[in-house]
Amino acid sequence: MIIVIKKGALPEQIDEVSTRLVEEGFKVHLSQGVEKTIVGAVGDRTRIKALDLEALPWVEKVVPILAPYKLVSREFHPADSIIQVGGQEIGGDRVHMMAGPCAVESKAQILETAHAVREAGATFLRGGAFKPRTSPYSFQGLEEEGLRYLADAREETGLMVVTEVIDARDVSLVAHYADILQIGARNMQNFILLKEAAKSGKPVLLKRGPSATLEEWMMAAEYIMDGGNYQVMFCERGIRTFESYTRNTLDLSMVPALHALSHLPVIVDPSHGTGRWQLVHPMAKAALAAGADGLIVEVHPQPEKAVSDGKQSLTPEKFKVMMDDLTGLSQALGRPFGDVSLC
Ligand code: PEP
Ligand code: MN
Repeated sequence: MIIVIKKGALPEQIDEVSTRLVEEGFKVHLSQGVEKTIVGAVGDRTRIKALDLEALPWVEKVVPILAPYKLVSREFHPADSIIQVGGQEIGGDRVHMMAGPCAVESKAQILETAHAVREAGATFLRGGAFKPRTSPYSFQGLEEEGLRYLADAREETGLMVVTEVIDARDVSLVAHYADILQIGARNMQNFILLKEAAKSGKPVLLKRGPSATLEEWMMAAEYIMDGGNYQVMFCERGIRTFESYTRNTLDLSMVPALHALSHLPVIVDPSHGTGRWQLVHPMAKAALAAGADGLIVEVHPQPEKAVSDGKQSLTPEKFKVMMDDLTGLSQALGRPFGDVSLC
């Protein structure tokens, strides 16, 4: 349910609406826009009638949200949500490039990559310290040591760090080092992890599960918002289909679909989305053209030696070529890349 408040209502009048709803057992979320203020109420719909909120002169209307996702929906928050991370805004006037290796392998590797991607125009550094691997015999990540190297790279370059957390027990550790918590595709419906990530207070990059529908994905985001953390962004990273030439099928139709249904930013990962470095640049262009708010791309100084995902990783040289091209495209689209000098 959303309660649309008339323009010019006083804070105490808005408070009164919230108080009445809370007393009736609703969870209340306030969304204050320039044009209108919306009180989102989640709870037993049948109890709203008794409150007769429309009788209050400062209430414009009470509208039910029919979709199962509420806080994530555009009805709840008509304007695009902008997520502030360091000096950068995600979901605002500028798009962002998040780049780095699949996994943090050594201090030298992450520092070299961080400098190279910043030089080329990235504003965020990616890199997994905890790796969710299909095989238990594959490299599982450097864990806290890797997180420390990411923090060192941030110190040196100013790039904000996005890194994955795979276990609810590690959320506070990862949140201590990271600027954005990545929830990986395999964990999209790990509800305990979603709830812990909500409590961390850090922005969350929520990847799409390899077989998740749009609605399931939005409901996963709803868990984080319901936990009180409104700083959520979606990340389309491809889904499993019958196609085997590509690692996944990058479903770019989700970008405009999410923008229509939700106010949250949408990031696209053409690296996992294709599994082939040759396809990363063209699909990154397509993602920006489709309206993505940012990209997350794997870059490795020596992809042939990478411990994971070398096949889909760009060299720093290829990354630079791509960024030069994307910079022109983003300007033509009216949404330049984030300002590296703010890092
Ligand atoms: C990754 O970003 O390295 C990763 C494991 O991604 P995904 O969860 O999309 O597979
Ligand atoms: Mn990877």
